[in-house]
This record gives sequence, structure tokens and C-alpha cells, in this order.
Amino acid sequence: MTADAIRTAAAHFHTCIDRMWPAAARRGISKSVFHNATASLTPDLRIMDLLDNQPEFTKSFWDYLDILVTNERIEQGRALLEKYRSAFDSVERAYGVDRHIIAAIWGVETNYGTLIGERSVLRSTATLACIGRRQDYFREEFLSTLEILQHGDVRPDRLVGSWAGAFGPTQFMPTAFKKYAVDFDRDGHRDVVDSVPDVVASTANNLKKDGWATGNTWGYEVVVPATFNFLLADHSRPMSLRDWERQGIRRANGQPFPRPDEQAFLLVPAGVQGPGFLMLNNFSVIMKYNPAEAYALAIGHLADRLRGGGPFLQDWPRYERVLSRTERLELQQLLARHGYDVGEPDGLLGLKTRSAIRDFQAKNGRIPDGFASAGILDQLRAR
Ligand code: CA
Repeated sequence: MTADAIRTAAAHFHTCIDRMWPAAARRGISKSVFHNATASLTPDLRIMDLLDNQPEFTKSFWDYLDILVTNERIEQGRALLEKYRSAFDSVERAYGVDRHIIAAIWGVETNYGTLIGERSVLRSTATLACIGRRQDYFREEFLSTLEILQHGDVRPDRLVGSWAGAFGPTQFMPTAFKKYAVDFDRDGHRDVVDSVPDVVASTANNLKKDGWATGNTWGYEVVVPATFNFLLADHSRPMSLRDWERQGIRRANGQPFPRPDEQAFLLVPAGVQGPGFLMLNNFSVIMKYNPAEAYALAIGHLADRLRGGGPFLQDWPRYERVLSRTERLELQQLLARHGYDVGEPDGLLGLKTRSAIRDFQAKNGRIPDGFASAGILDQLRAR
């Protein structure tokens, strides 16, 4: 969105908010709650920059993991698990979701509640509902925020969080709150901000409802031979672990897969030069929490470390230069110009861009590993 377009949308902010009143009324929001919440509301235009700069899409996997899975965060997570052991015990019994995953979400989302964000959820969601490229999505979040205020689950002054409107230690979006929040400590409020039992149980309930397989892990680090057919490394190409083994894939630690009949897809986030991962159902469940592979891998890995596991065994291609936002946009635009489907170029490297890079690599005699390297950009520029 251009600066001009943002200014124009901002000028119509209040008209836009008022137009949402009928939808709010249909949800049982009273005139007074709506009025009190919106009368003096102004858009927060600083958010518009953050919308296009999400680290889970803009950093390399290794930089992202380095920032989030540190020795300090591992120690703090273990201390947290100890401190709230009884809450984790009862939640694990009630929901069957591994406590280490919950603690990892807590750690990655807000550094265990210490980086919770200070933006008003109401203001953020209102801004994004009226300005920018995801208005439909955020209109639903804004209306859900009003519902939370109407029901009084979370105190208005505690309804603060990230630029996108996620709040509490494990960063519930307002719509996710509606679907998944539970009053585990039975005080009459579903308080995913200040009640630890409610936070832990609501997060577990979210994962469970999204299909978490009890007693199972998220996936395995694997070694992928250089001669491998990388076109198979795709979310849409799951196979049993046994079949992956037949393709030459091995666990990095040399051990066998405990349940070889399980279905998994192969992820090679840094291409042929980096580690591979076979991802089970629970990895896809974590991605429903935040649809970024780097995010889900950080959660899975931090959980393993909290449990006492070691670091990944294979090296990342740290010598690869990470593309800037301008370069990522250019890469997408060049791919689109050459007829590859990248969706709407947004500078964020998602599944569509990877698949387009793979097509390009395959047609140009390269290993189709989908990795957005500086070399690929050079090759596209030269055409
Ligand atoms: Ca409660």
C-alpha cells in the first residue's frame, strides 16, 4: 500500500468503523460498549510497516532459530515448567498436549510473557480492518475484540499485545480466543492474559482442537542425499516414513523412525545445502497457530530442547546471503514476469514462492530445492 493510499484510508477511518456497527449489533454488542470502545479511537499507522516485516517470513531459518532458541530461553523455559508444574500436570491430563510444546509457544511468542506487546488490541485490529491489504481478515478480529469486551473476559486495559492484535503470553488472536479459550481455574473468566492455568489450558485446547496427536512428536531432522528428487519435498506430497526411507532419507541421529507407518512431508528450508526435516501431523497443527514454517520449526525445536534434547546435527548454509525485502520483492516480480505463479508479490517468501522457484530451477537444469538464494535472483536478472 502506498503512503497516499494509507493517508486516504486513514481519513475515512471513522466512517469505516461506524459502518461496522450493524455487524457488531448482530453479535450482541451493546451500543454503549461499541461507543465507549470506538468514540475516541484513532488509527495506528505505524502498524502498516510491521505488516510486511514479519521475521518468520523475512529472516533466514537459521537467523530466526538463533534468535528464538537460545540457551537462555531454554533455561527460562525449564524454570517455567518447574514453577507451574501443577498447572502443566493437570492441563496435560485434561488435553493430552505435550507441556513442552505449550511452554515453547509461550517462549517463542512473548519470551515467556516478558515481551507481550503494548499496543491496544482494539486499536490495532480497528486500524487493520480499515487500512491495508488484509481488511476482511482484521474486520473479523476487530468485531471479536468487541465481543471480548462485551463479555468482560479480559480487562480492557489488559487487552494489549502485538501489532496484529494478538494478546497474552501465548498470543491469542481475538477469533482464536473465541474458539479456544477456556476458564480452567473456574473463576468465571476465560483469562488468557493473567491466569496461568487459563493460558496453559487454552493453548492446549487450541492445539487439541486443531488435531494434536497425543504422545507424538512434531517431526524428525533427516539427512537428504544430494541425488534426491527435491520435487518430492512439498507439503502436498506426504508419504509414510517407511517410503521416505526407501527414497534414501535417514534420521540425522542414525536411529530408526519409531512409527514407520506415519505420514510425513519433507521440508528442506535451506535447500540441498541445509538440513532436511520430515514433518508429522503435529507440525501442521503448530502451523495452524501461526502459518509460518520457520515459526513451527522453532516451536518444535525449542520444545525438544526444553525436554532435554540437543541442537540440530547438520549445519545451515550460513554463508548464503539473505535477500533483503527489496530483493525478495524483485525475485517474486521476476518470477511472475516469466510466467511463474507467486501469488501477489509481497516480499514474504511463502509456499507459493518456493514452488515457483522450484519450477524455475527444474526448467533451468538446477536442483529444484526451492531455496531463494542470491544466486537464483542473479540468474533471473540475467534473463
Ligand atoms: Ca479463569
